[in-house]
Amino acid sequence: MAFTHDIIIIGQGLAGTALSESLADAGARVMMFDMPLANRSSAVAAGAVNPIVLRRFVPSWRASEMLAIAGAYYRELELQYEASLWKPTQLIEIFPTAQEAGLWRLRMKEAELQHLLALGPGDDAGAAILPQPYGSGIIKRCATLDIPQLLRVHREHWISAGYLEERMVDASDVREIPGGVEVHGRTAPHVVYCAGPFHQVDGLVPVRGEGLTVRLPGLDVRSMVHRGLFLVPLGDERFRIGATFAWSDVWSGPTEEGKRSLLERLSRFWTGEVQVLDHWAGVRPAAKDRRPILGRTGEHTMVFSGLGSRGALLAPWCADHLAAHILKGEPLDPEVDVARFRV
Ligand SMILES: Cc1cc2nc3c(=O)[nH]c(=O)nc-3n(C[C@H](O)[C@H](O)[C@H](O)COP(=O)(O)OP(=O)(O)OC[C@H]3O[C@@H](n4cnc5c(N)ncnc54)[C@H](O)[C@@H]3O)c2cc1C
Repeated sequence: MAFTHDIIIIGQGLAGTALSESLADAGARVMMFDMPLANRSSAVAAGAVNPIVLRRFVPSWRASEMLAIAGAYYRELELQYEASLWKPTQLIEIFPTAQEAGLWRLRMKEAELQHLLALGPGDDAGAAILPQPYGSGIIKRCATLDIPQLLRVHREHWISAGYLEERMVDASDVREIPGGVEVHGRTAPHVVYCAGPFHQVDGLVPVRGEGLTVRLPGLDVRSMVHRGLFLVPLGDERFRIGATFAWSDVWSGPTEEGKRSLLERLSRFWTGEVQVLDHWAGVRPAAKDRRPILGRTGEHTMVFSGLGSRGALLAPWCADHLAAHILKGEPLDPEVDVARFRV
């Protein structure tokens, strides 16, 4: 059967964007459908990229490998779309207790962490204004990814090329045909759900997150800061702060309780004026075991989800890995294969 496309993708968040790029790069004919839904995750992500699990101070899952791939991947997209997306930076971890400061010193001696951790104060003079009674540590190989900008430039380009339609896909819109599927008049051997928290698959746990955009007059920090919450600089004394984690009532949107909690945590290390400019919420597509969820869910259907709170770091590796599986039949790593939840 002749298909109009090789792959149909549902959803243009970070997962769909990255997968479409990896597939197109390999020469596949891709069609995407996306309807921007309230509570989608990528629209509100602060874009912090940090290879360390805070509190325990250990590397996140395959951190060094993911970092190396992500940096090169987003740089390539910057060139392709002539957009500024990826900004290497450092993260200042303000120790809340003497115990955390002690643990940090121990971890710094471990071979796999020596190139990632240092003791503060770093070279960001603006951070000296923040109280640090137990000192601070520096995580060196962090970055920020401008996710809204990446989605915007990708969307504009793909819509104008006719490869993306802003359109909802309901379950009844995905029709089985011989050897594949048909969606809104397009046909392909595979459809991949990159629909984030909106598409339930085995192992997926939706987690609400809230954050604020604030102006903190007098705070001139270039680095990301963490002290119970993340502070991501936007320039001009503006910051994104977040995020909360809630496992119930996940579709509620921004709540007063979330806002109160964020401002209370901010007050532990910033006692100056706070101007709240925006308050946002989204639902993370997290996985029970905190690993991405990739692979086959039906004869012609697949999924790319489970990016959790580290989407920017994980999306490039996942996209390349799933593209190689779809196009070349390479086996999926069992650690990310959706099949692991069925055994
Ligand atoms: C508050 C908050 C802060 C975060 N901060 C960070 C951070 O600093 N760094 C980081 O790396 N990650 C962060 N994340 C996590 C990050 O947002 C996610 O890992 C990632 O964006 C998930 O992308 P996704 O494409 O899987 O899902 P989504 O971004 O939700 O994308 C799914 C897309 O599919 C569309 N869609 C769904 N169903 C359909 C359908 N049936 N038809 C058509 N379209 C459909 C949706 O509208 C959406 O556009 C944060 C998340 C939250 C909530």
